Amino acid sequence: MAPAAGGGDPEAPAPAGERPPAPGPGSGPAAAALSPAAGKVPQASAMKRSDPHHQHQRHRDGGEALVSPDGTVTEAPRTVKKQIQFADQKQEFNKRPTKIGRRSLSRSISQSSTDSYSSAASYTDSSDDETSPRDKQQKNSKGSGDFCVKNIKQAEFGRREIEIAEQEMPALMALRKRAQGEKPLAGAKIVGCTHITAQTAVLMETLGALGAQCRWAACNIYSTLNEVAAALAESGFPVFAWKGESEDDFWWCIDRCVNVEGWQPNMILDDGGDLTHWIYKKYPNMFKKIKGIVEESVTGVHRLYQLSKAGKLCVPAMNVNDSVTKQKFDNLYCCRESILDGLKRTTDMMFGGKQVVVCGYGEVGKGCCAALKAMGSIVYVTEIDPICALQACMDGFRLVKLNEVIRQVDIVITCTGNKNVVTREHLDRMKNSCIVCNMGHSNTEIDVASLRTPELTWERVRSQVDHVIWPDGKRIVLLAEGRLLNLSCSTVPTFVLSITATTQALALIELYNAPEGRYKQDVYLLPKKMDEYVASLHLPTFDAHLTELTDEQAKYLGLNKNGPFKPNYYRY
Ligand code: NAD
Repeated sequence: MAPAAGGGDPEAPAPAGERPPAPGPGSGPAAAALSPAAGKVPQASAMKRSDPHHQHQRHRDGGEALVSPDGTVTEAPRTVKKQIQFADQKQEFNKRPTKIGRRSLSRSISQSSTDSYSSAASYTDSSDDETSPRDKQQKNSKGSGDFCVKNIKQAEFGRREIEIAEQEMPALMALRKRAQGEKPLAGAKIVGCTHITAQTAVLMETLGALGAQCRWAACNIYSTLNEVAAALAESGFPVFAWKGESEDDFWWCIDRCVNVEGWQPNMILDDGGDLTHWIYKKYPNMFKKIKGIVEESVTGVHRLYQLSKAGKLCVPAMNVNDSVTKQKFDNLYCCRESILDGLKRTTDMMFGGKQVVVCGYGEVGKGCCAALKAMGSIVYVTEIDPICALQACMDGFRLVKLNEVIRQVDIVITCTGNKNVVTREHLDRMKNSCIVCNMGHSNTEIDVASLRTPELTWERVRSQVDHVIWPDGKRIVLLAEGRLLNLSCSTVPTFVLSITATTQALALIELYNAPEGRYKQDVYLLPKKMDEYVASLHLPTFDAHLTELTDEQAKYLGLNKNGPFKPNYYRY
């Protein structure tokens, strides 16, 4: 077997940038754990790198993250993170709030935590049933009551949702097949805290098929699909989650996942870092048995880096947020797919011939421009960076200053991650019926606050659609109050979530099977080879045929035939 990635000690994870692009086939734990007929899970010496979030304070993930000077991160990422402050250690669950108390608690949660995918809309929710799931005694058909969901009777509907999601999550289904007979997660006890959607269910059931036991809570109080939670509970997963949890419920659910007699987690899968912090605060001894943490979100990753810097991280952690495939899918492809959906659902507009200005030609801007151009829109771009500006020109877009086109455009879309890109002055000059929306950073890109003045009238015409009316009768159409349009008003393709879920599964396999000492108490990135593997697992969907390097070519390029194919500094 050829040497492992990095060319040096195949077992030693190295900091990013220090690993030369000398690749090799995998023999790491993940590879050993899964030895599929059609290709192996690659070597997974994950890369450690300095905290990118400290450097940039702006995050290329599916959401927005604001890092305040005191280090607090506020985020409303694409996958809808909540912003509940970490609960006090003195949380007492026996002091349960009344129904009113619960409501007022949830009201204390910030606006972005209330955003949730419309794809997570529940088809079977009965709003009549006001009883808290915590007050219900429910059992699944096998007699188990080790779960807490809204209504176990919704399981059948949830199962259908899961089956639909499976169609668009080919990599996880492939992992299940490839792991037949082998159980790379046998003995793994995974406690998870993620959005509980059909896509998560496919991940959980895959982890189960790979041998893991799982207990799960929701990382967002509103995003749980009740019927999916019911389906998981029915098939034996201890799930503690329902849509519309109070803050107290939220922590109670997490606690029910970890504080259980005769079961102790040895892996954590977190999205936002709340579960990790709960264990840190309440059950620090549990870390003696925990082999690793896999974290998806910007916020959670930032918290891990903070712990690591403070020397308080006591187990290895994988940052799956910054893997290349995830980023490309979240930023470019997801936005290319969802910009039209968000605009169409809110305005029913036709795109052909419309004049659109897109502010920012980064990944998100490129996706938006491509989609609108394909629909026959006339697209203008604004940029501050000459490289991205030149790219826009080469792609056939007119590069302008916003002022030059603001009077004539029908749609303004911001994708910069910056603030005050669209100012009150711009808004004053827009033509009647101009649509204004944001695909980037939080609601800072459009100066929405400047529209809250007495002379302007706000009219809510639809959910997420406001008409802001000037004294002369001119109105603009403001979508989602300037928050991320696709997050607030459209669905996110399952295939995008499939990339993340596959990366999470591989990271869990890797950390769980890694030999003692391979990973230190630090935060690691998934190695490029595993990123490539995630991509390769998605290729069969398209009947795509990958070209293999000949021996001669591999030698010529100095590559291993099995990858990694690019150096870490490569920009895709
Ligand atoms: P990026 O850095 O690749 O692109 C942003 C571009 O905006 C850059 O090229 C930058 O030069 C340009 N820019 C900055 N200030 C500008 C200004 N005043 N006027 C014109 N251009 C300006 O980032 P990205 O990956 O494209 O992400 C952009 C934003 O979208 C980020 O806030 C990110 O968190 C968010 N995001 C949203 C989604 C979504 O689903 N809506 C997905 C991923 C990322």
